Amino acid sequence: MSLCREIGLIAGVTVAVDGSRFKAVNTRDKNYTPGAIRLRMEQADASIARYLGMLDTADRQEDQVAEMRISRLSERLEALRRQMRELQTTERAVADAPDHQVSLTDPDARAMATNGKGTGMVGYNVQAAVDAKHHLIVVHEVTNVGHDRSQLANMARQTKEVTGADSLTVLADRGYFSGEEVVACEAAGVTPIVPKPLTSGAKADGRFGKQDFIYQPETDTYRCPAGEQLIWRFTTVENGLTLSRYWSSNCGTCAMKAMCTPSKQRRITRWEHEAVIEAMQRRLDEMPNAMRVRRSIVEHVFGTIKGWMGRDHFRTRRLANVATEMSLHVLAYNLKRAVVVLGTPALMAAIRG
Ligand code: SF4
Repeated sequence: MSLCREIGLIAGVTVAVDGSRFKAVNTRDKNYTPGAIRLRMEQADASIARYLGMLDTADRQEDQVAEMRISRLSERLEALRRQMRELQTTERAVADAPDHQVSLTDPDARAMATNGKGTGMVGYNVQAAVDAKHHLIVVHEVTNVGHDRSQLANMARQTKEVTGADSLTVLADRGYFSGEEVVACEAAGVTPIVPKPLTSGAKADGRFGKQDFIYQPETDTYRCPAGEQLIWRFTTVENGLTLSRYWSSNCGTCAMKAMCTPSKQRRITRWEHEAVIEAMQRRLDEMPNAMRVRRSIVEHVFGTIKGWMGRDHFRTRRLANVATEMSLHVLAYNLKRAVVVLGTPALMAAIRG
């Protein structure tokens, strides 16, 4: 990477971080979660009941055909009972697994949700930080964690280390938003730009959202849309987060209350590091095309690599092997980008030094 920086292939100023799910050598049929086991047990139970009913009917008929049917039905019943015993064994293994999931072909692969409905897969979550200048992959990592929420600071730190950048801006989509990750990025000297998920119940119900309340640091109060002051009431620790609550005593007589809260008063919660989140929101407001830029940097990278891999993605099993396989794809991707940007003779000359 230092050579890439020297010859201008990466700038190490802005990177886009994204994750994509890649299929493992493990079909969905060979992946078990408590829900999947329950479903398969219910299906096996229903089949057993159906065959028992058919066996009953056949028992009442005494001809040769009935005898053949009884023997066939008994075989199927035995197979179903065997399947049920296997499911019970797998159920115990799933209960004992730390994340309550078992994959039989590739034990490290995990069932993962994807964006499209009904397109969940058993696979790995590949994270990549892509440099904005020529779209080379600066850092990548293969995980079997199904979400991106805990990846931002890790990818940002690694990128900073690899590029040796003094200041680094990291763009990521709202799937990466986590207050703790944003604070960890800032602590590592990285400037994150990540939109907040749209989870405000009030906003969804057409009432004022938290962004309609302005924090006033000089007085440690919020100003609400009606111009009232919400004052600090108490601070508490919930799930390891230090949170303060603010409210006004005048909500009961407020003309705008119907647009604000169905409760006695509207309460606003403030995290101890909320200022960091507010500063990030200001950066986002100043860069309204941030997410479009992010998409243009990173999204085609995964599409290209998946195109090379074909429909089934990984060929190897277990996390360590899959990580090596991915590294080779990333190396090939970066080499191809370098050839496109510099041309083969210039790249060869730079490598020879
Ligand atoms: S209900 Fe309370 S917080 Fe909401 S606008 Fe009225 S005074 Fe402000």
